[in-house]
Amino acid sequence: MRSLQHYILGRWVSPSGGATPYPVINPATEQAVAQVLMGSAQDVDIAVRAARAAFPAYAARSLDERIADLQRLHAVFKRRYAEMVAAITTEMGAPLDLSSGTQAASGLEHIDATIEAARQLDWERKVDRTVNVVREPIGVCGLITPWNWPINQIMGKLAPALVAGCTVVLKPSEQAPLSAHLLAEFIDESGLPPGVFNLVHGSGPVVGAAMSAHPDIDMLSFTGSTRAGIAVARAAADTVKRVTQELGGKSANIVFADVDLDATIARGVRQCFNNTGQSCSAPTRMLIEASVYERALDIAAATARAIKVGDPTRPGDHLGPLASRMQFDKVQSCIAAGIAEGARLLVGGPGRPEGLGTGFFARPTLFSEVHNQMSIAREEIFGPVLCLMRFATLDEAIEIANDTPYGLAAYVQTADPQKAQAVARRLRAGSVRLPQCRPRCSPGPCRTACARPAAPDDRLASSGRPP
Ligand code: NAP
Repeated sequence: MRSLQHYILGRWVSPSGGATPYPVINPATEQAVAQVLMGSAQDVDIAVRAARAAFPAYAARSLDERIADLQRLHAVFKRRYAEMVAAITTEMGAPLDLSSGTQAASGLEHIDATIEAARQLDWERKVDRTVNVVREPIGVCGLITPWNWPINQIMGKLAPALVAGCTVVLKPSEQAPLSAHLLAEFIDESGLPPGVFNLVHGSGPVVGAAMSAHPDIDMLSFTGSTRAGIAVARAAADTVKRVTQELGGKSANIVFADVDLDATIARGVRQCFNNTGQSCSAPTRMLIEASVYERALDIAAATARAIKVGDPTRPGDHLGPLASRMQFDKVQSCIAAGIAEGARLLVGGPGRPEGLGTGFFARPTLFSEVHNQMSIAREEIFGPVLCLMRFATLDEAIEIANDTPYGLAAYVQTADPQKAQAVARRLRAGSVRLPQCRPRCSPGPCRTACARPAAPDDRLASSGRPP
């Protein structure tokens, strides 16, 4: 079986203290497809030393040279695109159309967007006669990423770090290491100087914790759960490194009665279930104005029943499996909790869809009569489970939407643009998507929720709070 090694100083290397193999399981077949050779704090140390040594020369490269590095990486990525699509489908179960159209595509888009931003950025700005602000690379960056949008999360961190002149140590999720490993091959082939990019495989509590606490990592960029984010921030505190975090969500989708109900409800259901519900910004709480609530339930139920689940290697717009057994078990326990708490099971429920005995497949599930204190309304389920709730007034909708421990995203659906803006400004969420908006990842297709193509008139209303 193929063993995944670290990539340090431009070479493929085995863990220094002897390898502990960890199986990479294809979630559709439950079969091991590779094994990761898990690293240790010592491997982190070696990788950080490589990144530290490479930093001065890389930081001294001109912007044009660093853009050229990204362009070469883009070219290799594009040529070997099909391999990346297959890797993502194999490691986390995204169906081929999703892997190809959005998951892998996001890697190339991040490179394009980074190059564009780098060309527009004010790298040096004279504030007045005595003050000149110069933007400099911060140093060695540690990147810790999750499995749900694996290449999106990696390239969203890696491309900006490289264009700024930083060197990096990446630890991808051990659940989905194939795409990260392939990306390291692309980087190797593109000729990036040794030590600029280093990959260390391993678990969060070992490799991730060692990176967070490492005194020679200047900045740590983390995406994942709140639980791990807290651990990262704590471990990083003593070294006073800069930490950026992108954590989970339980985003409200507020639907007012004046919308085209059929289209809006169907879109909301599909957005929630996209990527088998494994998106941080998925609209998982649909708040519906009372006067159209019953009709909305019928539309939502019909939409959910029409959604197919199946083999991710087949083309089509069906849902794939959940990414791991752990995720499957978690989703099952959340569905059981919803039933026990008295929510009404409208569609789906426990267990696998009919005919799918193998693989971590879950049934697209709708709960109605959910109130906001139920665990299914408060906790991030990270599966195809949507909570449908009713509200009577605009104030009540805002109160329910803001009553969450998260604050990642929110959605507002109304035919009245002024009302949409006014509601968005009262929502305590990092980003608010309005009906006239297309996805935040404009230009390019949406990577995070609905998978619609972006339009040139994309707009994002932001409450000003960081995501
Ligand atoms: P996770 O369990 O928190 O893991 C994320 C990464 O952190 C993995 O590489 C993991 O390593 C590592 N990790 C775990 N414990 C750690 C520790 N103590 N110290 C350092 N690193 C540690 O999250 P996940 O299950 O992979 O991903 C799903 C979560 O990510 C959801 O909550 C989702 O909302 C969130 N997410 C947020 C965004 C956003 O932009 N806001 C985007 C995508 C996902 P191992 O897995 O290898 O152990």
